[in-house]
Amino acid sequence: MSATDVLRAHDDIFVGGSFIPSASTERIPVVNPATEQVIATVPAGGVADVDAAVDAAHAAFPSWSATSVETRISLLRALQDALQSNSGTIADTIVGELGMPIDATSDVQVNDPALMLGGYADALPALPLEERRNRALVLREPVGVVAVITPWNYPLYQIVAKVGAALAAGCTVVIKPSELAPLNAYELARAVNHAGLPPGVLNIVMGRGTPVGEALVSHPLVRMVSFTGSTLSGRRIATLAAAAPKPVTLELGGKSATIVLDDADLDSVIPRAVADCFRNAGQTCSARTRLLVPSRYVERVALLARSAAERVRLGAPTSPGTHLGPLISAEQREKVRAFIRTGLDEGARLLTGGPEQPARQPRGYYVRPTVFDRVTSDMTIAQEEIFGPVLVIIAYEDDDDAIRIANDTRYGLSGAVWSAKQERAIAVARRIDSGEVYVNGGRFNIAAPFGGTKESGYGRELGPLGILEFTQSKAILT
Ligand code: NAD
Repeated sequence: MSATDVLRAHDDIFVGGSFIPSASTERIPVVNPATEQVIATVPAGGVADVDAAVDAAHAAFPSWSATSVETRISLLRALQDALQSNSGTIADTIVGELGMPIDATSDVQVNDPALMLGGYADALPALPLEERRNRALVLREPVGVVAVITPWNYPLYQIVAKVGAALAAGCTVVIKPSELAPLNAYELARAVNHAGLPPGVLNIVMGRGTPVGEALVSHPLVRMVSFTGSTLSGRRIATLAAAAPKPVTLELGGKSATIVLDDADLDSVIPRAVADCFRNAGQTCSARTRLLVPSRYVERVALLARSAAERVRLGAPTSPGTHLGPLISAEQREKVRAFIRTGLDEGARLLTGGPEQPARQPRGYYVRPTVFDRVTSDMTIAQEEIFGPVLVIIAYEDDDDAIRIANDTRYGLSGAVWSAKQERAIAVARRIDSGEVYVNGGRFNIAAPFGGTKESGYGRELGPLGILEFTQSKAILT
C-alpha cells in the first residue's frame, strides 16, 4: 500500500486563514481510481460552512481590494514559490485522487498552476486599471467576493486559473472544489498560509454541488461566480445567478477537432493527434477528440492511428512512464463504455480498444485506448463529449468541408490544424468557431486567453484578459 492509499479523515474547511471544523458531520469518501480504495474523507458541507466562508471573504475584501499592485504581485509570487516548494506532495496527492500518471501530473497539474500565478503577476503592471478617456477617469475595480466552483479533471489547475486572476484583480474568493478530487485544495490552503496571504482572502468549503455549490452561487454577498464543469451544471448555475442577477463565467464541455490538411506529414502528425486526445485518459475539456482527415488518406491514417493507440502505455499512475491511467470513477467508466457500445451500434469501425476492461488492469476504472473510423458527423460519438480515451476519425473532401465538419458541433472550446504551410493552417484556424486553435503543434501559453464559444461557455481565463474578467468598470466624470 502506498502513502496515498492511507485513509485520511479530513474534518476541516479553510476559513479566515485557519482550518476549522465543518459544521456538517456527514463525510464524502475520496476514492483512488487506480486501486478503487477509499483514501480519504472530506466534509459534505452545508449552508453554515458557506455562510462562514463568505463572511470571511467579505470581511477581507475592503483591505485586500485596497492593496497596491506591487503587494499583490509579491504575494502571487510567494504563493507560486510555496506551491513549487511542495510540488512533490501535491503531485502525489493528485495522482492518488485523480489517477493521472505521475509524469504528466507533475508537469500539468502542479507546475503549470504555479507558473500561472507568475503569469498573472507579470500581467498586472500593464493592465489598464485606471485610464483617462477625455475628462473621465475610468477605473477597473475588483468585483468583490467571488465563488469559484471547479471540476476534478485538472483540479488544482482549474482552481488556480480562477483564483490567481481573482486575487490579482483585488477580489477575495470562496472555493468549492470538486467532491471527487478535493484533497489538493488542502495543499493549496497550506501554501496560502505559507505565502503569507492575509486571512480571509482565500477560503475553501467542501461538499457537493447541492447544497454547497448552489448556496455559494446564491449567497447575497457573493458578487460573481466563476465556474468550470459540465454544460448541464453551468446552465443551472447561470440560472441561479440570474436571480440576483450577478455575473458568471462558464468554462464548460467540448468536442474539439484536429484538422489534418492534405499537405501535412501524416507519419508525425497522427501519433501526436492520438496522444493529444488521450491526455489525462481523455478527461480534458479541450481534448481534440475528432480527427478530421482527407478522404483519400483514411486507410493510411487508420493504420497510423491504430498503431499509435496500441503503443500507449496503460498502467498504474504512480509508475513513471505510464501514459494512460484510470478514469475518475466507476460511473465515468460506465458512461464511456456505453458511448463505445453506441459507436459500434451506429456502424463506426472499431480500429482498436473497446468497452472491455483491459486484461492487464483488472482493477481500477480503466478504459482501453479506443479509436473508431468510418465515423460521420451525425453519429453520437461525433457529437457527444465522451470524456474518456476515445478518438473518432472523420473523413472530409476539401478544406471547406473540413471546416464545416469541425464547426458542426454545439461546442466551441478548442481545435488544432496541421499543414506543411503555416499560413495555410492559420487561415483555416481563423475559420474555426472556438476559443482557441493550436496550429502545427503550437504550445499551451499562460498569457493567452482560454475559454469557449457556443455551449462551451463564456468568459476567458489566463493572462491579462483573465484578470479583467474579475473587474468592473467605474467612470468618474469631471
Ligand atoms: P460537474 O459540472 O459535475 O461539476 C463541476 C463542479 O460543479 C463540482 O465542484 C460540482 O460539485 C459543482 N456543481 C455541480 N452541480 C452544481 C450546482 N447545481 N450548483 C453549484 N455547483 C455545482 O462537472 P465535472 O463532472 O466535475 O467535470 C467534468 C465536466 O467539466 C466536463 O463536461 C468537462 O468538459 C468540463 N470541464 C470544462 C473545462 C473548461 O475549461 N471548459 C475544464 C475542465 C472540465
